[in-house]
Amino acid sequence: MAKILIVEDEKAINDLVKFNLELVGHDCYQVFDGETGLEEALKSKYDLIILDVMLPKYSGFEIMESIEDTPVIFVTAKSASEDKIKGLRLGADDYITKPFDILELVERVKAVLRRTKADAKTFAFDDIRIEFDNRRVFKSGVEVELKPKEFDLLEALINNRNLALSREKLLKLVWDFDYEGDSRTVDVHIQRIRQKLGISDRIQTVYKTGYRFEI
Ligand code: CA
Repeated sequence: MAKILIVEDEKAINDLVKFNLELVGHDCYQVFDGETGLEEALKSKYDLIILDVMLPKYSGFEIMESIEDTPVIFVTAKSASEDKIKGLRLGADDYITKPFDILELVERVKAVLRRTKADAKTFAFDDIRIEFDNRRVFKSGVEVELKPKEFDLLEALINNRNLALSREKLLKLVWDFDYEGDSRTVDVHIQRIRQKLGISDRIQTVYKTGYRFEI
């Protein structure tokens, strides 16, 4: 779980980002203009800032010039390619263009947190403990052998917990297939994970879509 500051003046977008990042376990704080954003970024310690470029009072870039260590993902309009270059030059860790797919944002947040080491290296629930670094899984303290793709699939579900993931999305995340990939592969691996770990109730089947890890 990370502490994330969201600086975005469009309330609907700010709320959407907060809602989805909190679903996957992060702790979010919202501000809606550049001045408050800068104050908050300097005042409190955040693991990550989601920073809109076009803001009232100070722009996202002005804020980036004033903060030092905190990782930043900036949000820009699709057309503004000069913004992307500028933002990355100012030291942003990543960017996302509007309008964006919320799952893509969740994944980018995950990737940046992993790079900046602010995110958890282990994840525990019920009697299960997962060590992401050395890819080991324990049930009641006893190691359970997962095949590499089973582990990848479990990790993808946990990284996107409480979100419904389509079979196509999971194929893309885990097998890197295009959309033509065989979605039964996902079903077979899900069954094995459920059996090996005894977590059928945590990995929910989402009717006509795919799966959701509920916690
Ligand atoms: Ca804006």
